[in-house]
Amino acid sequence: MATDVILKDVNKVYPNGFHAVYDFNIEIEKGEFIVMAGPSGCGKSTTLRMIAGLEEISSGDLIINGKRVNDVAPKDRDIAMVFQNYALYAHMSVYHNMAFSLTIRKVDPAEIHKRVMQAAEILGLVPYLNRKPKELSGGQRQRVACGRAIVRDPVVFLLDEPLSNLDAKLRGTMRKELMNLHDRLNATFIYVTHDQIEALTLASRIVVMNEGYVQQIATPKEMFDNPENLFVAGFIGTPPMNFANGKISEDGKYFEHMSGNKLKLTQHQTEILKTYRGKQVVMASRSEYIGIDEASLTSNPESTFEIEVDYTEYLGAYTLIYGLYGGENVIAKVYTREPIAKMDKVKACFDMEKIHFFDIETTKRIR
Ligand code: ATP
Repeated sequence: MATDVILKDVNKVYPNGFHAVYDFNIEIEKGEFIVMAGPSGCGKSTTLRMIAGLEEISSGDLIINGKRVNDVAPKDRDIAMVFQNYALYAHMSVYHNMAFSLTIRKVDPAEIHKRVMQAAEILGLVPYLNRKPKELSGGQRQRVACGRAIVRDPVVFLLDEPLSNLDAKLRGTMRKELMNLHDRLNATFIYVTHDQIEALTLASRIVVMNEGYVQQIATPKEMFDNPENLFVAGFIGTPPMNFANGKISEDGKYFEHMSGNKLKLTQHQTEILKTYRGKQVVMASRSEYIGIDEASLTSNPESTFEIEVDYTEYLGAYTLIYGLYGGENVIAKVYTREPIAKMDKVKACFDMEKIHFFDIETTKRIR
């Protein structure tokens, strides 16, 4: 597959001296759906804006479609951007909003009409072509914003939190529409969001950033199953991973939680934790890998612990138990219909095969 976009050691230092992005490296294949995610201020919009040409690149190379474009004007970069606030022209009809960028590029009117009608068809906007933006719903406006990008027929679509102004239900619908759109266009999408659910549902690969640094680049599944470090483990997944502090026993066979509770490690864990005997580590488990039912407890007799229940959330198909594991917060996602009262103590167990350990100094997953 052809590589569409390459960022090589890209850095951004703003004129006031603030270093917003450090050594960003990625090679994006044609047709990928890349989602850049991370908390507010982590540098994801800055990175997108550098790709768009709206921010200067302080150092490093940006290559789009085989050409270094650091110094190429935004309009000549073969990209189209969809913004969070849509940025539609209020006085223009839907048709003219979509046609505008082609008109100013002096594209042949017959070609403009063809491309606008094609985009309107793809986006289900044909009945609305004569309306003004204020006569549309939020979702329809968002589609017009996408339409303006589609008519440009760019190599790369850049989307900056395009769904953040929509209510939760519409966001769900638009997520599906964006996935369909991506499939139909077979173009490269680079999408920025602070919402890890959007990242998990949309991305072919996710880039998680924090404080200007790329933390991990991986498929949603890989990132969910094997987070690279404690930051990613806490960022991806709802609820986030549970963390427990303790040390590896001198014989390397147990994780000794700070509360004194002991968990038997698997053979593989004993092996990879060889150099950590007697040392502090952080253990991490997903809520879904904690069991409280008889079958789980019977098959994991050496990895049991007690949850001091704070409160529970009954969510129909499952229940979330919020509580403490030896003084540390823990959330368990369990499939039980029995009521679990506040302050109950519940016997639980970890599925040790699914547990990760992290180095306390580097915060990296031990493997
Ligand atoms: P958000 O989700 O809030 O939009 P973000 O991850 O997109 O966050 P950026 O907008 O990329 O974050 O900003 C990254 C950092 O760079 C922030 O700390 C921000 O304050 C800083 N920053 C952004 N623009 C400038 C600027 N023009 N001058 C100096 N610092 C800036």
